[in-house]
Amino acid sequence: MERVLITGAAGFLGSHLCERFLNEGMAVVAMDNLITGDLKNIEHLFPNEHFEFHHHDVSKFVHVSGNVDYVLHFASPASPIDYLKIPIQTLKVGSLGIHNCLGLAKAKNARLLIASTSEIYGDPVVHPQTEDYWGNVNPVGPRGVYDEAKRFQEAITMAYHTYHGLETRIARIFNTYGPRMRLNDGRVLPAFIGQALRGEDLTVFGDGSQTRSFCYVDDLVEGIFRLLMSDHAEPVNLGNPSEITIGEFAEEIIKLTGTSQKVIYKDLPVDDPKQRRPDISKAKAILGWEPKVDRAEGLKITYEYFKSLPEEELYKKDHKNFDAYTK
Ligand code: UDP
Repeated sequence: MERVLITGAAGFLGSHLCERFLNEGMAVVAMDNLITGDLKNIEHLFPNEHFEFHHHDVSKFVHVSGNVDYVLHFASPASPIDYLKIPIQTLKVGSLGIHNCLGLAKAKNARLLIASTSEIYGDPVVHPQTEDYWGNVNPVGPRGVYDEAKRFQEAITMAYHTYHGLETRIARIFNTYGPRMRLNDGRVLPAFIGQALRGEDLTVFGDGSQTRSFCYVDDLVEGIFRLLMSDHAEPVNLGNPSEITIGEFAEEIIKLTGTSQKVIYKDLPVDDPKQRRPDISKAKAILGWEPKVDRAEGLKITYEYFKSLPEEELYKKDHKNFDAYTK
C-alpha cells in the first residue's frame, strides 16, 4: 500500500488532503504540532486503520518508520495574524521544517510536494501573476517571515531536485476557503462570516479596493493531487482566477448571511497586497485542471459549516496553543 506523510495535517488544507489520500486508497501518516491545527479537523479519521497521527513539530528531526512514497509539506501558519504572532515558528517551519521533510523524502526515495503560496509574489506589479514573475516582497516587513520562508522553501526544494535528483513538486496556492478554516484566524472570509454571525459590523481594511481571488478547497485539493501525480518540478499556480475587491466581497457576505450589519472601514495592514489573481494557464495545460466550484456555491457550503459550529467558537479570541510555541 502506498503511504503519504502530510505535515500540517490537522490544519484546514491538511485535513482535506488526509481525506483525499485515504479515498485514493493510500495510507496516511498525519503530522502536526497543533499550534494552529486542531485535532477536531481529523478526529473522524482516527478509526480508519490506514490513518495514523504523529503529534510532532516538523521543525525538529522527523522520523517515520516503514515506507513513505509521498511527502506533502503543508505545515505552516497561514494567516497574516498568525504569522505576526508566531514569526519565528513561521520561519522555522518553512526552513528547518522543509529541510527535515526533504531529508526524509531523500532517505525514503519519496516524491515531495510543497505548499508554496501567492505570497511569494508579494505586492505584485505583474497582474495576473504568472509563474515566471519573481515577485515584489519586502523581506523585513510583517509578512516577510512568511513570504521569505516560502521563497526559501521553493529554493531548497529545487536544490534537492537538481542536486539530489529528488522528485519534487511546487504548488503556489492562492487564497483558498472552505469548511475547517479557523473562525478566529483573522483571514477575511472567516472574519466576515464570524462578524455576521455575531451581529457585528464587517471590518473592511483600507478602502476595500484591494483584490483577491478565492478558490474552494475541493478544487484546490484536486489541483494538488494532479500536480503531485504529474512530472512537473517547476512551480505551478493553483487558485481560482475569479477576482473580486474586498469591498464587493463584504457585500456578498452581507447578502449571503442576511445580516443587517454594515461595513466599517479600518486601516490597511502594512504591505497588504493591492491585487492578486492567478494566471492558471500552466495548470490548465499541464494538469488539465481548473476550478469547478463558483464562489456563490462554495460560500454557501462554507457558511453552513460555520453556522453548524458550537456558539462558543464564535467568541474564541485566540488559538489555545500559541503561548506554548512563541519561541
Ligand atoms: N481583510 C479585511 N477585513 C478583515 C480581514 C482581512 O478587509 O477583517 C482584508 C485584508 O486586508 C486583505 C484581504 O482582506 O486585503 C485578504 O486578507 P486575508 O488575511 O484573508 O489574506 P491575504 O490574502 O491578505 O493573505
